[in-house]
Parts: sequence; C-alpha cells; structure tokens
Amino acid sequence: MSYVYDDQNIFARILRGEIPNKTVLETGHSLAFEDIAPQAPHHVLVIPKGRYVNYDHFALEATEAEIVDFTRTIGAVCKMLGVQPSRDGQGYRLISNCGAHGVQEVPHLHVHILGGRVLGRMLQ
Ligand code: ADP
Repeated sequence: MSYVYDDQNIFARILRGEIPNKTVLETGHSLAFEDIAPQAPHHVLVIPKGRYVNYDHFALEATEAEIVDFTRTIGAVCKMLGVQPSRDGQGYRLISNCGAHGVQEVPHLHVHILGGRVLGRMLQ
C-alpha cells in the first residue's frame, strides 16, 4: 500500500506555520492544538509532525519513537485538560476518522480528543 500525502492540506500548513493555531502542547514529533469548531467543552486535535495521511499509514509506517511520542502526547493533553476518568469520574473520547468510509476530511492523521461533558452514544 502506498500513501499519497498532500502537502497543501490544512494541518500541513499549520505545521509549517502558514496558518495560526492555538497550541496546547508541542513535542518533538507531535502537535496538539484546539479545534477551530469545538464539538465539546474540550476539543483538541493531536497530529504527528510526520507526513502521515491517516491512522492506517501511521500505524504501519511510523517509527517507534513517533508512535510513542504521539501516544504519550495524547495522554499528556488529557491530563492537562483534566479529563482523565480517574478524576471525578470524567473521561473523554478519542476519534480518528480514516479514509472514505471513516469520512476523513483532512488527509493528515489527527486524533480528536473530546471531553468536558457526557458525550452521546456513538455505536449502537
Ligand atoms: P476528519 O474526518 O478528517 O476528522 P473532521 O472535519 O471531523 O474530519 O476533522 C477535521 C477537524 O479539523 C474539524 O473538527 C475542524 O473543525 C478542524 N479544523 C479545520 N481547520 C482547522 C484549523 N485551522 N484549526 C483548528 N482546527 C481546524
């Protein structure tokens, strides 16, 4: 499988500093920033700095350092937001849409972190 990365996608432009963002956390391999159209009191997007089209691409081709950094960044952001389930029984939802059936719109891997309220049931 070969993945075609579009350098003009909006998150690539954010990573190059061409479009401003509200950064929550930046690490060596990852960037977390506030979603421009929040769907919950907390809505943060976490992206790898590498050129990965989607989760499929990342899971199969990213380095272990990138995968560890990305995973830890998601955890660190949840901690910063105070949405960890260990705190007052709160919790959060992670979403990463992948490909056409996943209705992925921006072709750079991103994980949505949603929290701060009870979210609706997604899967029946
Ligand atoms: P996907 O299926 O790719 O996740 P979405 O539309 O659900 O598609 O996710 C893209 C997300 O990126 C949206 O939640 C949208 O609000 C957000 N977004 C788009 N442009 C920006 C931007 N400039 N800064 C922050 N978030 C953005």
